[in-house]
Amino acid sequence: MEKREFKAESKRLLDLMINSIYTNKEIFLRELISNASDAIDKYYYKALTDSDINFNKEDFFINISIDKENRELTIKDTGIGMTREELEDNLGIIARSGSFNFKNENDKKEDIDIIGQFGVGFYSAFMVSDSVKVKTKALGENEAFLWKSSGAEGYTIESTTKEKIGTEIVLKIKESTEDEDYDEFLDEYTIKALIKRYSDFIRYPIKMMITKQRQNDDSKEYEEYKELEIINSMVPIWRKNKNELDEQDYENFYREKHFGMDKPLKTIHFNVDGMVSYRSILFIPSNTPYDFYTKEYEKGLELYSSGVLIMEKCSELIPDYFSFVKGVIDSEDLSLNISREMLQNNRELKLIAKKIEEKIKDELKSLLENEREKYKEFFKNFGKGIKFGVYNDFGMNKEKLQDLLMFYSSKEKDLVTLDEYVEKMKEDQKYIYYASGDSIDRLDKLPQSEIIKDKDYEILYLTEDVDEFAIKILISYKDKEFRSVSSEDLGIEEDKEKKKEEEKTNEANKDLFLSMKEILGDKINEVKSSKRLKNYPVCLSSDGDISIEMEKILSSMSE
Ligand code: ADP
Ligand code: MG
Repeated sequence: MEKREFKAESKRLLDLMINSIYTNKEIFLRELISNASDAIDKYYYKALTDSDINFNKEDFFINISIDKENRELTIKDTGIGMTREELEDNLGIIARSGSFNFKNENDKKEDIDIIGQFGVGFYSAFMVSDSVKVKTKALGENEAFLWKSSGAEGYTIESTTKEKIGTEIVLKIKESTEDEDYDEFLDEYTIKALIKRYSDFIRYPIKMMITKQRQNDDSKEYEEYKELEIINSMVPIWRKNKNELDEQDYENFYREKHFGMDKPLKTIHFNVDGMVSYRSILFIPSNTPYDFYTKEYEKGLELYSSGVLIMEKCSELIPDYFSFVKGVIDSEDLSLNISREMLQNNRELKLIAKKIEEKIKDELKSLLENEREKYKEFFKNFGKGIKFGVYNDFGMNKEKLQDLLMFYSSKEKDLVTLDEYVEKMKEDQKYIYYASGDSIDRLDKLPQSEIIKDKDYEILYLTEDVDEFAIKILISYKDKEFRSVSSEDLGIEEDKEKKKEEEKTNEANKDLFLSMKEILGDKINEVKSSKRLKNYPVCLSSDGDISIEMEKILSSMSE
């Protein structure tokens, strides 16, 4: 037995690692399980390329066990194991990745879906352990070795005995302190949850003894017993073939992931192969999440790299106006940073995000065309966000989003799209008319609109605060300008003639209107005669671009 020291740089690196690379110490388990999975992959790959080696999938698994009394957590795999040299190289030199080399040395690179690449993940074990023991026997070797280390001090390697090929890693979990809880890593429930959270889609079974209860037939008392369970689901649903899956499978997945208590209104399952390849399942919820229109709501998709969870809410993957979308993305082409908690550059992410945005838009359009009732339901829940999308960023996205908009129509008594409105415009109709107010009911009785209704023109009723702001940013749709019903110029011939008469009436009643203005004071700007009114004696209207409704909103915002 000989004692070796880490190189000086390695010492510092180890310190750095333990204290700063990872934000979350619980990820040590993700790292060790990923290594175990890589080791089995390598075994499998060797078997593929060497007919003397057998590989029966059933013989390959990862086992996690807890020994509370001795404060030990053990991660055992039936993978390829390590020779003495490999122990030296891979665990003795920090930032040396045997997996990275393995990928590069073997030709059919694209077929190897190995997770490791940086050669630091293993050391994350020291975030939670006082000491680490690695007992391993490599494929094709008779001798087994034991590697031991208590961290920065160095490590020892000695011969040992081990029956089966593979690796067993024993962590001596630290004692909890006032500030840090380590006991949780000896808790069956926590460990199980961590496996589920980070390693659910590791392709090999992760087994663990789980404490259960059963009722004794005779005494009727509950007794505890232990049973070996496979914790992970192994094959992620997004890797399955679409025709193997039905609505129920997607619904179950949606629930399991806690995307919502509702059912998805629409499921989008798609794969992309290209510069950046990935698989994805996206959902549009059927209900608005309770916190959707609050600051607490966090948009984002779950991001996986080769089946390992990297980020729970990757917000860069979806634009704000589609923030209602839930789902997962799994890619093998992400360049992760060293902690594997983030991405090294955003180029790949941007490519994915762009495609996702297009995909969501296309799906919404097809929903609108083919399942109108569903689309209306969707729009009632999330339309506000889309309208904000039109308005925000100085209307930069308005072209993209305008066809997804719906407004209530005076004629249809229902939601219509702008396209439908323009399609049905009368031959002599110049503008797309709209009226804004608190309720459809009140808008329907608006005195100003009578002249427009007389012409049998359709009016869009805007009842949400954001509506008129979105319309103002749009300016026009298919070359037809928007025009408020209370606007001075409605572009109607008869209206123009009436205007001339108005001038005369105004002249004739000048004194009367002036004294009315004197009585009403600051409440109004001016009293004028209007020939637009038919059944109503009087109406309120605004001058200029800002409607009365917008004025109300703007002044309530500045309060
Ligand atoms: P990475 O996984 O990024 O390569 P790690 O620090 O996690 O870096 O692991 C370093 C290397 O140690 C791996 O590349 C691999 O060669 C070796 N290794 C770690 N764990 C195991 C294991 N359970 N079985 C076989 N080899 C392992
Ligand atoms: Mg690793």
